[in-house]
Amino acid sequence: MPSALSPSSPVLVIATLNPAKGRELQAFLGAVPFRVRLFSEFPGARLPEETGRTYAQNAFGKAHAAASLTGALALGDDSGLEVDAIAGAPGLHTARFGGPGLDDRARWGLLLERLRDVAPARRTARFRCVIALVGPAHGEKVVEGVVEGMIAEAPRGSGGFGFDPVFFYPPLGRTFAELSDEEKARVSHRGRALEAARRLLTG
Ligand code: IMP
Repeated sequence: MPSALSPSSPVLVIATLNPAKGRELQAFLGAVPFRVRLFSEFPGARLPEETGRTYAQNAFGKAHAAASLTGALALGDDSGLEVDAIAGAPGLHTARFGGPGLDDRARWGLLLERLRDVAPARRTARFRCVIALVGPAHGEKVVEGVVEGMIAEAPRGSGGFGFDPVFFYPPLGRTFAELSDEEKARVSHRGRALEAARRLLTG
């Protein structure tokens, strides 16, 4: 089992079992003075169901699970897509939008279907990401990142994951699936929340 936090070589555990997200978070946090480990490297790693009433409750649930198993500082996140024309849905339920068993393509397809009659100007949306940090020497901290965009009328691009092909980012004139990893990290909800977390960890 990987070693727990020690004063000379502090470990930061990323509390996700999703490999794509874990790598994205790990790459972004490369510059912090911690050995960044994925929770999935630890035997017995399990995360609670996302049953919180807020993003922060879900993010803290993950961070607490990872911190208590490993004894290390842990970073948990929760994120969602809020679409104004459907009252902020799917929001907290984004990962399960449309029910279990759908892949990403089916989920964004369903979203486009729901918005079929919504005019371009009313297709405003945002991604929100909340990051919780929990650790022996750090107590509990929470930060948030938001990015505003529009739901496109048709998918574009092949990068990223989740709803990226239909999330159009006006300042760059492209969907998130058309951005490189670096471009996305600079402007995305997760990139912004991670930047705030990075400042806390290095400050
Ligand atoms: P969670 O934070 O893992 O619960 O993610 C919630 C859901 O939001 C994911 O399953 C994705 O569908 C969506 N999502 C979160 N972040 C992104 C992103 O950067 N791009 C596209 N979809 C995202």
